[in-house]
Amino acid sequence: KKVLLKVDQLKQYFPVKTESIFKPKAFVKAVDDVSFELFEGETLSIVGESGCGKSTTGRAILRLDEPTDGKVYYSGQNILELNKKEMRKLRGDLQVIFQDPFASLNPRQTVKQILNEAMAIQNVVEKPKRMDRMLELLGYVGLPPEALDRYPHEFSGGQRQRIGIARALAVDPKLIICDEAVSALDVSIQAQILNLLKKLQKQFQLTFLFISHDLSVVRHISDRVMVMYLGKVVEIAEKKDLFDSPLHPYTKALLSSIPVPNPTLKRERVMLTGDVPSPIDPPTGCRFHTRCPFAVENCKQVEPALREIRNNHFVSCHRAEELAQ
Ligand code: SF4
Ligand code: MG
Repeated sequence: KKVLLKVDQLKQYFPVKTESIFKPKAFVKAVDDVSFELFEGETLSIVGESGCGKSTTGRAILRLDEPTDGKVYYSGQNILELNKKEMRKLRGDLQVIFQDPFASLNPRQTVKQILNEAMAIQNVVEKPKRMDRMLELLGYVGLPPEALDRYPHEFSGGQRQRIGIARALAVDPKLIICDEAVSALDVSIQAQILNLLKKLQKQFQLTFLFISHDLSVVRHISDRVMVMYLGKVVEIAEKKDLFDSPLHPYTKALLSSIPVPNPTLKRERVMLTGDVPSPIDPPTGCRFHTRCPFAVENCKQVEPALREIRNNHFVSCHRAEELAQ
């Protein structure tokens, strides 16, 4: 498998406003030392509760917010070192679809203007050929040609997300980051959009980084899944391995809250207690120790490294082997 994107020790710290100028500067460690690889043509999902750093990771990779530290390799170069001009060129390869297409589509532009602008910025299609291309794009996402002259507010939520997808496709991307792309939609519409994304992925050899808090959506779309907690990666595995035999207590807790698809699999139930601690002053050692039913003294002192415990199955827990028995 070819690595399309390699994220290496990515950090995103946001300064916290303090009332007193005498107080030392505090930081929200939203993403703290995150490393992973994204393979060409796959869908890797990032899951976790809100505030775990999954969206921040996506935004940092695209430099929508400039990351604090780390490296992001794409076709051999660290994109965090690219200048504005080089970065603009790369934007065509790396696209993003957000939860609320209404917020990301200009309400005063028709679909034609929206698609045309995307193509013009990246200069992917010559002007005379743009009309044909727009009709082609609408066809790919299942919208009629009449959609071109209409405005975003004239469409339903699902249709608007189709416009967002057409806009992303317009520039011939390699990677699309989908940030809660179906979270605002009804379940039946969600399934339609997920199936559309899957179809387009095959058709255009797209790679997806799929950010979602919704485990049933993640189960539908992913090849691999990465679980984050308080800015850290706690587990990465093939979808089946993650859902059928999760290793990290936090992953087990997340999965305990959704129905078991296969009742013959007796999955251990882990209940979460307490709230997510503040990312400004996260717990020492394993960040999950304040909520983990299996925590021992060592967990409070020493931060567990992400280790490959089984084939392609990585987990950061001191007791992973023991608990897997
Ligand atoms: Fe729980 Fe300790 Fe494992 Fe952290 S390292 S998940 S506290 S058992
Ligand atoms: Mg988010």
